[in-house]
Amino acid sequence: MMERGKLIVVSAPSGCGKGTILGRVLEDKARFYYSVSETTRKPREGEIDGVHYRFLTQEDFKTKIAEDAFLEYAQYCDNFYGTLSAPIEEHLSQGQDVILEIEVQGAMQIREKRPDAHFIFIAPPSLETLRERLVGRGTEPLDVIEKRVKQAESELTCRSAYDYCVVNDDLDTAVADFLSVVRAIELRVE
Ligand code: 5GP
Repeated sequence: MMERGKLIVVSAPSGCGKGTILGRVLEDKARFYYSVSETTRKPREGEIDGVHYRFLTQEDFKTKIAEDAFLEYAQYCDNFYGTLSAPIEEHLSQGQDVILEIEVQGAMQIREKRPDAHFIFIAPPSLETLRERLVGRGTEPLDVIEKRVKQAESELTCRSAYDYCVVNDDLDTAVADFLSVVRAIELRVE
């Protein structure tokens, strides 16, 4: 019988470079399935529906809540984000490791529901570095950046609820650390 893949939940305050780290990790397409979330947030420039997110109206999102289609969902900075259960199960049963990149409230819902899940936190070297990165990225106005830094500050206090923490100071080191953690998860005796 084929061994099931591992369910790996990754959280990071925005601007921690998690997108860049995961971009490198996910180059191994046969090994990993990256879960594409549903969201009510408007697409940013360059974001493609079905690739970065599936962009839904509030109404469609609420219909999926009512259908109990979500493994988890949460409200974050005035928008809804959620992970559908069905594709996750499908890929785990095909032996692929599934990576969910979600915020803390959703991760804690999975902690309750799925004892088989593993939790990795990606942290910035400091909040000041995080603010500089968000300003440098230039995708949000300053008031939204301040809101996200505040959110990050409270999210950083949640890191003790995770099994592993990768600090993104140097990108190559962070990618290597992340892959070491995944390997340890795969080798773990259940
Ligand atoms: P952004 O708007 O910057 O793309 O994402 C905002 C936050 O929502 C990030 O922390 C991201 O990890 C989180 N997020 C993305 N997809 C999901 C999801 O399906 N569920 C939950 N709970 N959070 C998500």
